[in-house]
Amino acid sequence: MPKTIIVSNRLPVKISEENGKLSSKPSEGGLATGLGSIYKQGDNIWVGWPGMALTKGTHKKEVTRDLRKQNMKPVFLTAAEIEDFYEGFSNETLWPNFHYFNQFAVYDEELWKAYQKVNRKFAKELDDVIEPGDTLWVHDYQLLLLPQMIREHNPRSTIGFFLHIPFPSYESFRLLPWRRELLEGMLGSDFLGFHTYDDMRHFLSSVSRLAGLGNENGKITVDNRLVMADALPMGIDYDKYAESAASPDTLAREVRYRTSIGDVKLILSIDRLDYSKGIPQRLRAFETFLDMYPDFREKVSIFMVVVPSRDTVPKYRQLKEEIDLLVGHINGKYARLNWTPVHYFYRSFPLNALSAFYRMSQVALVTPMRDGMNLVCKEYIASKLDKKGVLILSEMAGSSKELSDAILINPNNINQLIEAMHTALTMPEDEQVKHMDIMQRSLKRYNIHHWVSLFMERLEYVKKSQEALRTKLLDEGLTNQIIGSYKKSKERLIFLDYDGTLTGFNLDPDESKPDEELKSILKKLTKDKKNNIVIISGRSRDTLEAWLSEFNLEIVAEHGAWIRRHGEKFKTVTKIANNWKSEILKVMEGYVNLTPGSFVEHKDYSLVWHYRKVETGLGEIRTRELISHMKYITTNRNLHVMEGDKVLEVKSSEINKGKGASVILDKSKADFIMACGDDSTDEDTFKAMPQNSYTIKVGSAASAAKYSVTSFYDIRDLLRKFTER
Ligand code: UDP
Repeated sequence: MPKTIIVSNRLPVKISEENGKLSSKPSEGGLATGLGSIYKQGDNIWVGWPGMALTKGTHKKEVTRDLRKQNMKPVFLTAAEIEDFYEGFSNETLWPNFHYFNQFAVYDEELWKAYQKVNRKFAKELDDVIEPGDTLWVHDYQLLLLPQMIREHNPRSTIGFFLHIPFPSYESFRLLPWRRELLEGMLGSDFLGFHTYDDMRHFLSSVSRLAGLGNENGKITVDNRLVMADALPMGIDYDKYAESAASPDTLAREVRYRTSIGDVKLILSIDRLDYSKGIPQRLRAFETFLDMYPDFREKVSIFMVVVPSRDTVPKYRQLKEEIDLLVGHINGKYARLNWTPVHYFYRSFPLNALSAFYRMSQVALVTPMRDGMNLVCKEYIASKLDKKGVLILSEMAGSSKELSDAILINPNNINQLIEAMHTALTMPEDEQVKHMDIMQRSLKRYNIHHWVSLFMERLEYVKKSQEALRTKLLDEGLTNQIIGSYKKSKERLIFLDYDGTLTGFNLDPDESKPDEELKSILKKLTKDKKNNIVIISGRSRDTLEAWLSEFNLEIVAEHGAWIRRHGEKFKTVTKIANNWKSEILKVMEGYVNLTPGSFVEHKDYSLVWHYRKVETGLGEIRTRELISHMKYITTNRNLHVMEGDKVLEVKSSEINKGKGASVILDKSKADFIMACGDDSTDEDTFKAMPQNSYTIKVGSAASAAKYSVTSFYDIRDLLRKFTER
């Protein structure tokens, strides 16, 4: 039976060694709980590093055996790998870059090599486990290359990926020398999840700018494979925190802590030691708060937990020293015998202690400079059983997108931060309850289990969509079947796209006019009274008229803007606004000035930027820029930006080939309907066709068509066979 494989840098266990004996304890992180419902089932498995550099073969064997019983498989890393791959590239290159701290980013070829090597090591370990039909879920920034590496050996696998930290804007991401490889690695996935819509948007923008792949509503086509990206903010195990907050042990702790601290209001601050968390900024704001509001002295304290992390890295050591100094400075300046302004703990606490801290704090101050999600603020809310308490939350935390009932602040605005503390400490209880209630409801519903099932649902949806888009190659049997039903039919309607479907591509568009072979095919087809042949193209009506006027056929020109029925003149389908053109034209002309060889074609209802004569490379770069620019200025304007072969077209969304085809289909009584096309604009035609029609795509890209052929010659062959006796 197909299984699910979870892959992350760390396994959800802690291995420790005492007197030469190894033991493992499950770790309690939210992710481990959420994914517990998956990896503990049947043959499912979690693959990752067990968290210790083991050198002895016997130890490795023992750990492997022990973990096997818990549905886990270890990937052993050497001390050097941990240093270069994990502490190095992951935490000193990717982490600062993805959190917009580029001044701290290290660009070192050796670290990059180690990152590749360890990702490859994971891929190798997975090769031993993966079987056809398996689903994989890869986690986080340490394993960005892994999806692609897995796909190399397992092309049909279902691969999901979730990024737990922010995905930076293109302007930050492009600074990485290995940006392209990293993106390609990620694009090996079928589905990519991000915490926020902005993270997803940034990813798609980098995919467009660096890999040259556009997207439609988060859907990208990579090597003929549909890939989808979406925002899925991770939730917490709500009930666990609510239950822990109600447990007798937590209540007893709260009483003990309260007795020691005395009757002051507490502002809670809990973070891992990291420059992205804004800990010094928070302390400075608190100091100024005490300066500005002397009435609050002796009445309010900060309760600050900093969890040791990466403190062998110089940047982190410096940060720790800065925090130590600031805490010393504030306490030295304001402390009284009966009051400590900052209660500071540089260590980590178990859940029951945290629950007591959450319960006893009037305010939670969560003010990262940048944070993928931030779980502490969500845990604080879940622990507030009486709904009294106020959350001050940085706009730069992913969670701020869901928790709009918090007091949202910009962590760089110290005055706003100080005012937020004042507002929080003086907020009436009924108002606190109102906000807390709204946030609790949302976190309760969107909990970790919900998140896991949504992710799996999305992944399955992409896989199903891929299946639906897989076209059947037209073999001899199918070809004969189509010819058979053509011959049997009484009335036929055949839609044929022009470029790429009836002819090949030419550098000079004038060379695409019908050659003798095509002319003879069209002549024979259109002579048969039972046939209605419709050429459906993006080309202008003038060109199509000039090329095809000798045949008795109908024409849908400019992607459906103009239709010429038998014996009639060209007519527009609907009244379409055209007042958008001058502004778009100005921008396109700007790009023409910058890009020798490019030009703009004016069509009745669209503008087209052509770059087939532009120096290779430059045309692609400019087009990526132009697409971003166009997408930006066409937002909310009912315009559609379409990429074609060496062209970029902007047209009214009201026009597409599907709509043009429908006009003709509506009045047709045909009992044989066929549509052939090759590019993305023909997808609308395919989708508009009735169930029992024959739809044929030229090329192997994913398509809504039922069948595919490899070249336009195959279409010509088929059409020729129709007219043979
Ligand atoms: N945490 C903990 N003990 C502590 C302090 C924090 O177990 O003494 C946990 C906390 O409950 C939360 C996690 O550490 O689940 C921190 O997650 P968050 O997303 O807030 O920050 P990250 O460290 O992942 O950047």
